[in-house]
Amino acid sequence: MIDGGEAIRKLALNVARYTGLAPLARPFVGGIGAILMLHRVTATPEKPDSVNRHLNIAPSFLDAVIADMKAGGYAFVSMDEAVERIKAGGKGGRFATITADDAYRDNMTEALPVLEKHGAPLTIYVAPGLIDGSAHLWWDVVEDIVKACDRLSLATSNGPAVIDCATPARKHQAIARLHAYFTTEVREEDLRTVLRGLAASHGVDADAPRLRTLMTWDEIRAVAAHPLVTIGAHTINHSNLKRLSEADARREIGAVKDMLRTGLGEEPSHFAYPYGYASAVGCREVGFARDAGYASAVTTRHGVLRAEHAGFLHALPRISVNGRYQSLAHIRTMLSGVTTPLANAGKMLVTV
Ligand SMILES: [Zn+2]
Repeated sequence: MIDGGEAIRKLALNVARYTGLAPLARPFVGGIGAILMLHRVTATPEKPDSVNRHLNIAPSFLDAVIADMKAGGYAFVSMDEAVERIKAGGKGGRFATITADDAYRDNMTEALPVLEKHGAPLTIYVAPGLIDGSAHLWWDVVEDIVKACDRLSLATSNGPAVIDCATPARKHQAIARLHAYFTTEVREEDLRTVLRGLAASHGVDADAPRLRTLMTWDEIRAVAAHPLVTIGAHTINHSNLKRLSEADARREIGAVKDMLRTGLGEEPSHFAYPYGYASAVGCREVGFARDAGYASAVTTRHGVLRAEHAGFLHALPRISVNGRYQSLAHIRTMLSGVTTPLANAGKMLVTV
């Protein structure tokens, strides 16, 4: 979470799809492979009309995507092998690796059976704070708060701001306002306290979303033992690293390794930047991930992999498999590479 560039990617998808550009463009913009990005995979989402529904796909769609990509010549490999293949400039054929952020329980219960069927490896990026409760799935909590009330009051630098949440349209606006509030106005260090205060004052349980949807440590240990699964790191507290001091950002990237080694018995060698968009990760953070000794680090920037990524293993783009557009045509268009420059101001090599 959270997926940036939604609007531009939608535009890019439609432009490409409606002009039939994708198949023609493939030889010019197609890459050596792709890293697919998932969050939730469930046939029975608790909130099907949620503003966060782009984060969920049905297991049947995952099945269809993998089958379609295999038919199109993709080999599904682990993140370790993906890194080796990037280093080798893509020799060995077109490849894909699947990643899932935040450690949702349905990754184990609903995605893994599909992956077993196809022998497709999965990397799950874990933020221990989300599991322990020192961090929250705040975007879900925000939705619960807005749903629970007709109006709410925010403490801002200009004094209290009253937000109307009485109608569906107002609730939609209120959610957008709260996203801006928590990502730009509240200090990253204060997010948990402010969120819990706002939830409590509206009778909302801030712990409910993580307890309902994320794996426990026992479940993570169980899934980590599966031969298809790699556990990667996602910072300690799912932090927006760009908003932290150097010392705090390095600690979030580095100390999470020790926490995961303690919890799971093995140190992670792959990393995903929380949020992953431009206002959460830049050159500074990429340097920190490299310094911490990870073999790879992924963003949520949109793009296919190119041979040149061998020089940018800590700034790898991904292809988000978006719950709002569960169509094979969208996936094929994105994998053709045609949307990569469209979503990145003309750049074909996407880093940060
Ligand atoms: Zn995340």
